[in-house]
Amino acid sequence: MQTRPQLDITLCAPRGFCAGVDRAIQIVELALEKYGAPVYVRHAIVHNKYVVDGLRDKGAVFVEELDEIPDGDAPVVFSAHGVPKSVPAGAKARNMFFLDATCPLVSKVHIEANRHHAEGREIILIGHAGHVEVIGTMGQLPEGAVTLVETVADAEAFEPRDPEKIAFVTQTTLSVDDTSEIVAALRRRFPAITLPHKEDICYATTNRQEAVKAVAPNVDALVVVGAPESSNSVRLVEVAQRSGCDNAVLVERADKIDWSRFEGISTLGITAGASAPDALVDEVIEAFAQRFDIKVTASGQQREHITFNLPRELRQPQAATPGA
Ligand code: SF4
Repeated sequence: MQTRPQLDITLCAPRGFCAGVDRAIQIVELALEKYGAPVYVRHAIVHNKYVVDGLRDKGAVFVEELDEIPDGDAPVVFSAHGVPKSVPAGAKARNMFFLDATCPLVSKVHIEANRHHAEGREIILIGHAGHVEVIGTMGQLPEGAVTLVETVADAEAFEPRDPEKIAFVTQTTLSVDDTSEIVAALRRRFPAITLPHKEDICYATTNRQEAVKAVAPNVDALVVVGAPESSNSVRLVEVAQRSGCDNAVLVERADKIDWSRFEGISTLGITAGASAPDALVDEVIEAFAQRFDIKVTASGQQREHITFNLPRELRQPQAATPGA
């Protein structure tokens, strides 16, 4: 019998689902349970096809815009990435019943941007053009109130109306290192710039990048389980490459693995973006087990204890207090 080559797999910790993704999926599932199908969802609830397909099988109907939804009383859920203000306004105008699954950490950025605007500051949003979260954040304010800055070169070229009255906010899923370079350029040029009270890049993005930085220099290859449209997953590939693992690759599903990339390796790191379920990580490990004699260990012990409340309409009623 042919022996399989040995492969030591290090599972990065933490990895996979964050509290915002978990909450968004629960909102759709609970809405289906409580109100029945169909439940309309504006945009992919989270950027993962496996998750979206699973919810579609249960009766969720995914649309990109509200005008694709027929009149009626079926609920509509807004995705975890957040929406421009025009979306809830449009839903109200049509008397739609909507549930907002925007991650509370994205809502926090929306609140900050609104506060800066109310206090007369021009706002810079550090983020990636076209990403749905960026569209949602820019759409909190009138056109021209927010300028998108994607790179250090953009930060160097930015000309504010008044350098004493500017502030910046960021997308939540950026590379921590890239963003700090952009922030350094802005602070050097505009010492009076108002900074976020607390980092806008979320805890889940930061923790997953830190875990990858620790593992990447010690492995021959690193797999990030996640979707190409998932910003935080794509950032994890870049972080791994910059941390010393050239052979870092995004894998959506086990059947899409390009095995030529893993010929001759003896060590592998595996992580998953914040919207990738454990089932997909298990599937990828199983695929490696078919070809290699694997030994799996976990890196780090960092556990995350963050949870977010569900919308009021979906919370379980409190159990009655005995004797009350
Ligand atoms: Fe919220 Fe961060 Fe998760 Fe996005 S990645 S849903 S901002 S916790």
